[in-house]
Amino acid sequence: MDIRNTARETSAKSNDPLESLAAALFRPMGVDGIYARTALYEEVIERLSAFISRHREPATEVLRFPPVMSRQQLEKSGYLKSFPNLLGCVCALHGTEAEIRGAAERHEAGGDWTSALAAADLVLSPAACYPVYPLAASRGPVPRGGLRFDVASDCFRREPSRHLDRLQSFRMREYVYIGPPREVTRFRERWTGQAQRLADELGLPYRVAPANDPFFGRTGQVMAISQLQQSLKFELLVPVHSAEQPTACMSFNYHQDHFGTTWGLRDESGAVAHTGCVAFGMDRLAVALFWKHGLDVQKWPAAVRNALAMR
Ligand code: AMP
Ligand code: ZN
Repeated sequence: MDIRNTARETSAKSNDPLESLAAALFRPMGVDGIYARTALYEEVIERLSAFISRHREPATEVLRFPPVMSRQQLEKSGYLKSFPNLLGCVCALHGTEAEIRGAAERHEAGGDWTSALAAADLVLSPAACYPVYPLAASRGPVPRGGLRFDVASDCFRREPSRHLDRLQSFRMREYVYIGPPREVTRFRERWTGQAQRLADELGLPYRVAPANDPFFGRTGQVMAISQLQQSLKFELLVPVHSAEQPTACMSFNYHQDHFGTTWGLRDESGAVAHTGCVAFGMDRLAVALFWKHGLDVQKWPAAVRNALAMR
């Protein structure tokens, strides 16, 4: 939630327990929340990915998305109503050779070339599951048993921070279900339980709590309250900073008929499909593992090493 993170942002940075991990896990790239990742870190990310894959439900289609997606699709999904402040949009120099050269030369002369940029048909994906709904809808009616997907992408959110658990560019993995409301509810309940077993296996302390998305502005507060009241979002929170301000490492989301209505996802009888997703914040989970078990993976508890197939 936005409010508590803003509070943390202004609190004393030197007390941050994650700061001591930075030198081993990341290399600076000149911008807050954008880091090169070391081999030590990536090894854990890869093992974590494989660990999550081993728990994939049967009949789940695997898709890996690039870090960008159709701007038009994201606009249609309603993202600008909810999180316009977080969105990154791809811009490029369009026009004739002379116009493009003119803009580039303005930079060489010490001027501003960016005023010549125009939005392209791409945005940086803010979550891994957005592209899957139009894709599923393009295939015709949703089958009786629903549709299951395993998706992942690099995600971007414009929320610069010095904290290692709040990146601008991070990896998200999701299991998505599209089908009748009752089945979406069951999917989410099943995964809320399963995710806690996974966190147990990883030796992470956590609690699961109702949550709201950081909807933008004053109207966003109404959306956030409604989301909470309807129990549409839960998060698995890990106290990497403190028990009072824990970090969401996974989320369990019920979108009701939002994507079904937007994309015309219907079953054979014409009933609008509901959707839900469980999201794993890969970078947050990896940081939490190093925070909890230390930088020497050889010394991680045997049960955790076993879960991650570290031999
Ligand atoms: P959300 O769609 O906000 O529920 O995000 C899904 C998951 O992505 C969260 O539970 C986090 O683990 C992860 N995540 C979201 N924002 C960030 C961020 N700025 N940096 C790192 N991980 C993030
Ligand atoms: Zn999702």
